[in-house]
Amino acid sequence: MADAPKMKAWIEKIHAYVPGKSKGADGRELAKLSANENPLGCSPDALAALAEPASPARYPDPDATALRAKIGEVHGIDPELIVCGTGSDELLNLAAQGFAGPGDEVLYARFSFIVYEIAARRCGATPVEAPDRDYATDVDSLLGAVTERTRVVFLANPNNPTGTFLPRGEIERLHAGLPKDVLLVVDQAYGEYLEEGEDDGGLALAAAHDNVLVTRTFSKIYGLAGERIGWATGAPHLVDALNRIRGPFNVTNSGQKAAIAGLEDQAFVARSREENNRELARFADAIAAMGNHGLRAIPSKANFLLVLFEGKLTAQAALAALAEGGYAVRHLPGQGLPHGLRITIGTSGQMDEIAAILRKAAEAA
Ligand code: PMP
Repeated sequence: MADAPKMKAWIEKIHAYVPGKSKGADGRELAKLSANENPLGCSPDALAALAEPASPARYPDPDATALRAKIGEVHGIDPELIVCGTGSDELLNLAAQGFAGPGDEVLYARFSFIVYEIAARRCGATPVEAPDRDYATDVDSLLGAVTERTRVVFLANPNNPTGTFLPRGEIERLHAGLPKDVLLVVDQAYGEYLEEGEDDGGLALAAAHDNVLVTRTFSKIYGLAGERIGWATGAPHLVDALNRIRGPFNVTNSGQKAAIAGLEDQAFVARSREENNRELARFADAIAAMGNHGLRAIPSKANFLLVLFEGKLTAQAALAALAEGGYAVRHLPGQGLPHGLRITIGTSGQMDEIAAILRKAAEAA
């Protein structure tokens, strides 16, 4: 292999992303509550837009002009300050690539989105994890981990895989404590699940400062994960950097159309939020009632709940019991969570069934 192309040393350190599964160990198809998808699907209007044939022979609008205009209208943002991506994954990677490189550090909290580490390594930078506080992101710990080599700080709010949330004051305190030449990326993939008045202020920070980028996605509440559409907003020079390095036609024709239709159907978004938040609260209560068996839910404001297994029933055994009962959920032993399962909130019938399976397994353990 001496003559074969040699992978860069920093790429060799990357463990490829392992997506949430939909099959059991025996290959059986399971109900997939492992990837934080919307159990209601997407807006019927987005489905209708997808059913209209767009010419597959034509490249999409490289600038997603109509989509950016619609995002701008819905969120009150100048479309020139918006850039769309192939999912927000692409934009997170571009943010790291645009502002960090070999010798630099990319900082994020322990137990946050796995793509931050991949994004850091991909551009040759060093990923740095700040300690959590009982699974939640801790601003003091992040600020304490900043060095003169820190170039980018990633923060998911609400966070994946914990579901924890930092209120506006904490995000502002983090921003105020960072050097002005450090880019703060506030990843709001689950931002639409927050109730009115719970806004973390990320968009306002991005509008007011030169070093804040906010990312959003159509994969979660909009139910368009398969179309791969995300967007980011920030100061002109931040958007300019991302535009220079993004793929030229990075959002498909169908994705642009579906996202516009999704944005126009805010009633669907409201219904998705309402049903999710109701089922999330009910499921969290069901887990709390299993506290005597060592089950503990981390308080979540997203569309999933991280359940810790601190008693006789192990996460591994619970995963197997759920698979036996027909459900795929997320076990993340590689992310320091061998004792937890991240369970996406499904329909009310599914959540009742999952709670019953866990109760039975906990009682039998
Ligand atoms: N950020 C967070 C916190 C996520 O959980 C996810 C999806 N798992 C993403 C970003 C990326 O989503 P997408 O690329 O589908 O927009």
